[in-house]
Amino acid sequence: MLKLDSHASGHHFLHIPGPSPVPARILRAISYQTIDHRGPEFGELGLKLLAGIKKIFKTEHPVIIYPGSATGAWEAALVNTLSPGDTVLMYETGQFSLLWKRLADKLGIQAEYIEFPGIEGWRKGIDARLIEERLRQDSAHRIKAVCVVHNETSTGVTSNIPAVRQAIDAAGHPALLLVDAVSGLASADYCHDAWGVDITVSGSQKGLMMPPGLGFNALSPKALAANKTAKLPKAFWAWDDYLLSNQTGYWPTTPATNLLYGLHEAIDMILGEGLDKVLARHQRLAAACRAAIEAWGLEILCQDTACYSPVSTGVLLPEKYDADELRKLIHQRYNLSLGTGLGKLKGRAYRIGHLGDCNELSLLAALSGCEMGMTAFGIPLKASGVVAAQEILR
Ligand SMILES: *Cc1c(COP(=O)(O)O)cnc(C)c1O
Repeated sequence: MLKLDSHASGHHFLHIPGPSPVPARILRAISYQTIDHRGPEFGELGLKLLAGIKKIFKTEHPVIIYPGSATGAWEAALVNTLSPGDTVLMYETGQFSLLWKRLADKLGIQAEYIEFPGIEGWRKGIDARLIEERLRQDSAHRIKAVCVVHNETSTGVTSNIPAVRQAIDAAGHPALLLVDAVSGLASADYCHDAWGVDITVSGSQKGLMMPPGLGFNALSPKALAANKTAKLPKAFWAWDDYLLSNQTGYWPTTPATNLLYGLHEAIDMILGEGLDKVLARHQRLAAACRAAIEAWGLEILCQDTACYSPVSTGVLLPEKYDADELRKLIHQRYNLSLGTGLGKLKGRAYRIGHLGDCNELSLLAALSGCEMGMTAFGIPLKASGVVAAQEILR
């Protein structure tokens, strides 16, 4: 038996910003018998899934579902539309924007990075004017794509993607718009078609309430056209084999059959609750989380009130406290997992995830764990954040 099964009494409070807790209904579906992925039942499931997932991305165009982590889907977006030596424009919002840039570097793409000193860029959303300015200078149209992160999971900041689209259009620039919506999808508002996004990259283990293991590329006609001339080497990630097999509900290789059972349930649950209601629930939970942090007298990492994330909230600690030591104490005492400070925020901040299958009482439990943990750790708190959060949720 896995040690996890005898871990502690009660259940584990998983409040990292992904993987998020997987509802029992999804876990049950994943345990169904694995079927013949070339048989008739699979084709039916495939067609239903490929149609259902479009509603979550709000698109009429194909969505490719890969077995693989979201990092693979990042790579897929780049290799399917770009050629060796192409330039892309990326923007520092936090650790995930940096990791995507490093991946582009490794592929031999010239990744220009709009960056900021210290943690300045990690506390606010994308300033689309900087993108417009840079694109206006690029009269030769050497920049082939603008790549940005929608919800920066490392900071709890959600950027305005329509503003990035408008910046590209205002500059009259033909660059593709590639967006990482790995953590934002299904917890923060997202509209692939209406926002004019060419490729949306996502993953299964965040807002979709699934275990890790699936990656997504939502496409646009312009992305499909770019695919025809893209010269970067690609084999496993090549869209064309997927698009062909998917027409009849199948995959070119063995799909992650059991994860697809889970995805079927996840889509059903999200559309059953109503996507708008799901998004409103996350806004409410995020507001309660921020009220708690303010009541404690601590700093919310995101300084731009228009960019507060409905997915996760970062808590910046006074410099003399080590956030990772605090997280360790909270995990040991209360069986609660919180997100670590990544990259430039290592030891400075912790993150509370309130994405996916989160409700009022699960959030309040997490906030209680934070409050008791911080008190035990010796961090002076102004007032009870739990009580303040209850005021919002009541
Ligand atoms: C989690 C995450 C990723 C990476 O996903 P993996 O499944 O770990 O590859 C990328 N971008 C963002 C914004 C994320 O939250």
